[in-house]
Amino acid sequence: MLPKPATSKRSALPDTLLKRSQTIVLQHFLQTNGVQTDINTLLRDAVLVTIHRKWLEHPPHTPTEIGIATFDRKQVNDGQPVFPGPHAEDLLKHVWFMHLRLRRGAHLPAGPGDPDAFHFGTSVFVSHEEALDMLHEIWHQPIDEKNPGLGFRPIICLSFGDNHSLSKTRKDFDFDPANISTTAAMLDAQVIATQARITSSQYPSIEYLLHQFRILPHDHGNSGNAAAYITMVAFLSALRKEVYESLQNPRAKPGQSGPSSSKPAQHVINWLMQRPTPAPPFGTTTYCYRCSNWAHVFVQCQEKDFVCSKCLRSDSTWRRANAATHKEGLCIFHF
Ligand SMILES: [Zn+2]
Ligand SMILES: [Zn+2]
Repeated sequence: MLPKPATSKRSALPDTLLKRSQTIVLQHFLQTNGVQTDINTLLRDAVLVTIHRKWLEHPPHTPTEIGIATFDRKQVNDGQPVFPGPHAEDLLKHVWFMHLRLRRGAHLPAGPGDPDAFHFGTSVFVSHEEALDMLHEIWHQPIDEKNPGLGFRPIICLSFGDNHSLSKTRKDFDFDPANISTTAAMLDAQVIATQARITSSQYPSIEYLLHQFRILPHDHGNSGNAAAYITMVAFLSALRKEVYESLQNPRAKPGQSGPSSSKPAQHVINWLMQRPTPAPPFGTTTYCYRCSNWAHVFVQCQEKDFVCSKCLRSDSTWRRANAATHKEGLCIFHF
């Protein structure tokens, strides 16, 4: 099933949230300060969903990867206020990280980042339809399965920098979270880090921000890892005071200090990478995008002689260079 018809973004956003800064919305959703407000009540049933997408670096910019991270605040301490733990580990350990790879065009280059190097869970190969179904399900979670009249849980969508706006110009994948009626807020981890004064730079990179928290990123160009790192940066920025502030560190400088003095941030991240994580309940973990076989992966492929004649004849240098990455039947081009 495809996403429901769009409603306008502005009418879908509750006024109460629109008036607050993104950092305050996230702080109230995470509920670490113990103060109950009207925003806490509004977001009681909300689910946070981080999304990061990648596309082919050349036209037609077909989507290639979707990183998704979901966090259900109600699962932590029954939704009641809680201390986030060192480097927010008691919240981060409840985040589910997923990495979808679109089968169509998987043989073509999607820019920097290794699509095989997802470190926070299992990558699955999916069709466009499966990816859209998955996103639709995430955005339409009943508040109460037994009482459909209560409607769906509000979604707080988190992205980073221009990744969300890029999706608007790349219409091949028709999914715009800002236009779905269940979306209660659109947040940007780059904005949250700036509002929390982690940096004075207006457009800091994810890599730079992770370094501020003493976290060494691994393959952050992979969309699955990117979604994980975006979630971490947003949480640590919004919870800066709760996680780092002390008498010795009154400015809450990130690092191994204050309530987070027991361990380095990297230990928390390493644990998140090493723990067993359930795979998404669809798609396949094995798929060869050279010959479309579902029993082996690209590096195990025995069909070394495939050359796509359409790409071999192309005027584009990059297409000629990738003519041997796929059999002709998998080519995304008409000629
Ligand atoms: Zn193969
Ligand atoms: Zn081709």
